[in-house]
Amino acid sequence: MPSVIEKDALIIGGGIAGLWMLNRLRAEGYDVMLLEKNKLGTGQTIASQGMIHGGIKYALNGNLNSASEAIADMPNHWKSCLAGTGDVDLTSTNILSEHYYMWPRNSLRSRFNAFLGSKALRGKVSSVDKNNYPDFFQTHINGPLYELKDIVLDVPSLLSCLSKNYQSDIKLFSHDSGWSIEKNSAGEFKSLLMQQGNKIFNIKAKQLIISSGEGSKDFLKAFIPDEGLPSNMQMQLRPLQMVIVKHEHRHPIHVHCVADQLTATPEVTITTHKCKDGKTAWYLGGELAESGTHRTQEEQIKEAQKKIAELFPWCDLTNAQWHSFFINRAEALTIDSKRPETASIHQYKNISLCWPSKLTLAPNLGQQILNLFHENNIKPGIYDNPDLSKINFPGIADAPWDTLP
Ligand SMILES: Cc1cc2nc3c(=O)[nH]c(=O)nc-3n(C[C@H](O)[C@H](O)[C@H](O)COP(=O)(O)OP(=O)(O)OC[C@H]3O[C@@H](n4cnc5c(N)ncnc54)[C@H](O)[C@@H]3O)c2cc1C
Repeated sequence: MPSVIEKDALIIGGGIAGLWMLNRLRAEGYDVMLLEKNKLGTGQTIASQGMIHGGIKYALNGNLNSASEAIADMPNHWKSCLAGTGDVDLTSTNILSEHYYMWPRNSLRSRFNAFLGSKALRGKVSSVDKNNYPDFFQTHINGPLYELKDIVLDVPSLLSCLSKNYQSDIKLFSHDSGWSIEKNSAGEFKSLLMQQGNKIFNIKAKQLIISSGEGSKDFLKAFIPDEGLPSNMQMQLRPLQMVIVKHEHRHPIHVHCVADQLTATPEVTITTHKCKDGKTAWYLGGELAESGTHRTQEEQIKEAQKKIAELFPWCDLTNAQWHSFFINRAEALTIDSKRPETASIHQYKNISLCWPSKLTLAPNLGQQILNLFHENNIKPGIYDNPDLSKINFPGIADAPWDTLP
């Protein structure tokens, strides 16, 4: 006989989306269970650069479009959570940098100065005085250098912060022993049957929330046939090849290096992380990562070495270790396959497919799921559930620079 578990909501997937929604729903008194197939954050969240940005890079082409408007308030939202006064408690998350910098090449200076006066950037970017340049740039660049209101977070500590208060609600969902979905006569989600060891659990929930990133498609396909899947539940993938440079330089850099033209994607986006072995890792994204999907790993590393030597000729990286890896961004399908501009929830009966689109927009997704519960009049229930301590907590994924050979 399966053990029956009753919940208000069952969340599938524990990246930033699933964990943020768990925190918001639990704080409102909902009884929620989150099932994670791997370790928490596996996939996009642990691979992200941890930048909480206010959309400046999307305003780079001079337009204040809906992408930049949607995320303009996000750094402040996150800052209040980090200070313990927001809707989710992030007080034990490590902040890697309180600022993010933007370094345009000299040829751009005049266009950039004009752009700085534009409505799109007012109050969000300030020019840094030479005496206040971060140590890494001191005396090495002529400028200009701009400071954005964006922050950079240490993602492993963010994941542990979001999971620590709800460990007993977060369970490993091993797919090895099989699972299936039961629907009611209206075709709505009724329960998930899963076997863990020699035990079978029947998890009933009023609402099924799918936040499994790239894994969402396979999960949905297992019980909603492709032809029955509404078009608003389709997914798109945007591939990247990221680069990691491990070295022993002390001074961190967190900077968008902006190329010869103002485009939405900086030529390289760099964040700096502490590795478990004491070394420092620069993590390189931006245009380098987007265009890198057509290169082999060897070619990508050569391209990155060339770019870094050109940008930072004063920096000796002779003994650095260079690595690259492929990863997809998984998002809701857009009409023109462009990056989606907002977090979104796509509803099919009582199933919600959730896309934050960016780490930055997780708070927005959290608010959307609460609104949906309120609109659908889903009230917190009281259940007498069996002891679930035998199902393990999945643990937290290791950062990419800590899993290198
Ligand atoms: C290289 C890279 C850098 C990025 N940098 C930034 C940045 O600096 N700032 C920013 O705002 N955004 C950034 N992003 C975007 C951001 O990381 C993603 O939008 C966000 O992390 C997506 O979170 P998610 O929870 O939807 O998905 P994911 O993080 O992919 O999480 C999905 C989870 O579901 C689990 N799962 C999958 N299938 C199943 C299943 N069948 N059952 C149970 N669990 C399952 C997975 O193991 C995983 O833990 C970056 C993305 C990439 C790829």
